[in-house]
Amino acid sequence: MSIVVVGSIAFDDLETPTGKRERVLGGAATHFAAASSFFVEGVKMVGVVGHDFAMNDLDFLKERDVDVSQVQINKDGRTFHWKGRYGNDLNEAQTLDTQLNVFATFCPELTEDFQKLPYLFLANIDPVLQRNVLQQMDKPKWIACDTMNFWIEGKRDELLKTIEAVDILLINETEARLLSRERNLVKAAAIIQDMGPSVVVIKRGEYGALLFSCQESVQETFSAPALPLSSVIDPTGAGDSFAGGFLGYLARVGTLDSKSLRQAMICGSVMASFNVEAFGCERMQQLNWADIANRYRQFQQLIHFEIPNF
Ligand code: AMP
Repeated sequence: MSIVVVGSIAFDDLETPTGKRERVLGGAATHFAAASSFFVEGVKMVGVVGHDFAMNDLDFLKERDVDVSQVQINKDGRTFHWKGRYGNDLNEAQTLDTQLNVFATFCPELTEDFQKLPYLFLANIDPVLQRNVLQQMDKPKWIACDTMNFWIEGKRDELLKTIEAVDILLINETEARLLSRERNLVKAAAIIQDMGPSVVVIKRGEYGALLFSCQESVQETFSAPALPLSSVIDPTGAGDSFAGGFLGYLARVGTLDSKSLRQAMICGSVMASFNVEAFGCERMQQLNWADIANRYRQFQQLIHFEIPNF
């Protein structure tokens, strides 16, 4: 059963310690769709692009069976634009410019086949738009959501209303602290769980990701590492690629049990590890299933240990 994603589709200007690129195809929904398409068929994208966008830029997603029929083209405006810089700390993007452009007035109307899907991912975008899409869905099995400082600081009250209605929140470490107003991540996760989602994933860049889940009153924590890589080219989209692997796997297995959540955390980490190896979606376009399976095994090796005979 497939998944609907709404979120930014963007042109990004990127600056990392390894180089600079302009007008790279990006956006939260784009990175998510690319990664999740390896786990579920027919990922359905909802978003908008402007007159400066060539729809054949999305051909690589169509080839991976992503349904882009609900990506609107607004001829009166320009595509969402984000300009970001990473210094030596690749975990922290510095936003230099955000231009919402066609997203400022975007009002999607989901078709019935989209509304009936069981899984929804509200990728990073205006929380009002996230809620608009959420309200159009016909009783999904679960709803997941991502956000960032731009919205936590700019539209906190709207964001809290969206978060209240979701089952799974994925958020990075700094933003978890900002949202919860708590420095300690264990306490921050508990505060966020009280806001609504029973599953909270805190992404920590090169330090991996933490899962806090409360299913049937059982609280559990899991930690997934990031793969130590000798070359990291561009971290942009790592969080969305993580979400693509994580939620794509959960949609594929159809449960939120402990075993599946843990496996999903590794699927997320695998996809994020590929994403950072090239600018934009370039690495995802080269990827095949054998690469993913091999890297999953690398993760298993990385964290395997025996309990000593004390
Ligand atoms: P991440 O996975 O967090 O690195 O996401 C990076 C992507 O998020 C980039 O491709 C940007 O186009 C997109 N992005 C940046 N700022 C925003 C924003 N305020 N709302 C939605 N998407 C954004």
